[in-house]
Amino acid sequence: MVKAILLESPEGVFRARLAELDESAFAGREVLVDVSYSTLNYKDALAISRGAPVVRRFPMVPGIDLAGTVRESADPAWKPGDAVFVNGYGLGESHWGGLAQRACVEGRHLQRLPGAFTPRQAMAIGTAGFTAMLCIMALERHGITPERGEVLVTGASGGVGSYAVALLATRGYRVTASSGRPAEWSRLKALGAAEIMDRQELSAASRPLQRERWAAAIDTVGSHTLANVCAGLHPRGVVAACGMAQGLDFPGSMAPFILRGITLAGIDSAQAPMAERESAWGQLASVLPAALADGLTWEIGLKDVIQCAHDLLDGTLSGRIVVNVNA
Ligand code: NDP
Repeated sequence: MVKAILLESPEGVFRARLAELDESAFAGREVLVDVSYSTLNYKDALAISRGAPVVRRFPMVPGIDLAGTVRESADPAWKPGDAVFVNGYGLGESHWGGLAQRACVEGRHLQRLPGAFTPRQAMAIGTAGFTAMLCIMALERHGITPERGEVLVTGASGGVGSYAVALLATRGYRVTASSGRPAEWSRLKALGAAEIMDRQELSAASRPLQRERWAAAIDTVGSHTLANVCAGLHPRGVVAACGMAQGLDFPGSMAPFILRGITLAGIDSAQAPMAERESAWGQLASVLPAALADGLTWEIGLKDVIQCAHDLLDGTLSGRIVVNVNA
């Protein structure tokens, strides 16, 4: 039997439970993986606590990230024993995901584990670190360099935000971290933030054009925060928008776009093309100290996942959570 978190909706009533499933339930795609670690991201917490809008069909095994070892493969690119990982590609949304001891995935969605990281470290980085790197790549594609000025990171104490702060600092950027958790501010400084601002400064409706403060931003929060970030960018500034912790809405103005020529770059890690994934993970492997990933992370077992998902959404948990599916 295989242990898995299972999301079901019998007669429209959503429930999440730790289940024991027959091996045969994990079939239908090319590569069978023995999962060693997964993660608990914000999106997983939403899926486990509410199902909608993340889960597209039931029953579902959640978990947008997984790392493990190939057990069987019908894809010649992979052989038993290969160390692999996956971020996104519909895992935990439309296909069974990583919060199980087994996963059946498409060969073209797998990446080889970089030598720099253990499976646990790859998951400590996971979609959060990968997305932070995609955001930085988007800023730099639009011409941002450390010389252009300060970069703001919102939701800085979260998974994506923490990696964004650390990665920007290692690339020589001066980083302002916006955060609503004073208890996390010294950790953000240790990660490389030069300045901290209280997230309340950005969270309410305000003027469409504000003092020019940042050359660029990585926004994990959306809603009024994103509107205020756009309003405070320098002319030709760029914001990489990836998250919605405050809300999915964007109550912004055209003013910063047509009067300051700013760019809003959307980030979708789940469907990022493989070439972009390989570039992002190549850069993560070359610049991110593995010890940093360990330091940002704490570990739970499958039995703790459902409670932790609720705690994450309630804001009583922070940092990166890796899930040892065999613990
Ligand atoms: P976390 O839960 O780890 O972090 C979210 C952070 O947002 C919190 O730590 C908090 O930071 C801040 N926050 C929480 N609630 C609010 C609020 N009401 N108003 C303002 N700020 C708030 O999540 P992740 O870092 O994993 O993900 C962040 C966002 O990015 C999520 O919306 C997630 O769905 C999205 N995401 C998108 C991806 C993509 O490909 N587009 C990939 C990965 C994540 P603080 O206390 O420091 O202010």
